[in-house]
Amino acid sequence: MSRDQVEALVLRTFPLADQDKLAVFLTQERGLLRGVAKGARKFGNRFGSALEPLSHVTVFFYEKEGSDLVTVSGCDLRESFFDVASDLRAHFALAYIAELVEEFVPVRSRDSLAFRLFRAILQALRDGVEPGILTRYFEAWLLRLNGIMPDIRRCRRCRTAIAETSPGWLSPRRDGIYCDSCAPSRKEAIGDSLGKFVAWVQENPPSACASAPFPAEDIASFGKALQALLVYHLEREPKCLRFLTG
Ligand SMILES: [Zn+2]
Repeated sequence: MSRDQVEALVLRTFPLADQDKLAVFLTQERGLLRGVAKGARKFGNRFGSALEPLSHVTVFFYEKEGSDLVTVSGCDLRESFFDVASDLRAHFALAYIAELVEEFVPVRSRDSLAFRLFRAILQALRDGVEPGILTRYFEAWLLRLNGIMPDIRRCRRCRTAIAETSPGWLSPRRDGIYCDSCAPSRKEAIGDSLGKFVAWVQENPPSACASAPFPAEDIASFGKALQALLVYHLEREPKCLRFLTG
């Protein structure tokens, strides 16, 4: 067994037998980490509030070779985001983001991007940025990082540019946007503003969402398209999706 420590955000915990908890962390240096916190459900346990969802912590753990489940020996609270989740819209947005992180971020990933992004989103929420646009920001970013964001500025078949005057149609199954004449079906219309938003996300941090140049009704329509792509790749609807209010 080797002992280690890592900076992390607590995504969620659930009860195990013997007053233990299973905790899922998004770490800075090794992707997702799942660990058993012994005695964490006992009154006055040594973990205190450090195992509350969305706490930014340092996790101390032991791991056995060949096992993906570690033993959490301690957890120091660095920063609590408990206050942020007390707003109901922010709470549901964060539950949805945490669910997607758990689905998409691999165990033992050395990439710290997901960790830094989630933390920046928490900070932006605390600074009063709208949960709706931050959720869209995260969806767009996640699709791109996983290489599942299609080219949404041109028709996938004939390469005609999607423009304000000639919107395209989204087909997640056929991996892209199709112009009016090539579209296999016409369910989700996509204007050129979604392409502009995705490009904007690449160039701006979450905090910039406070002054993003996109009207609220556009943000709501981006959600439909981005979620259709995520649902298609997940092969199911995220559980927390229906609680999103914008
Ligand atoms: Zn076309």
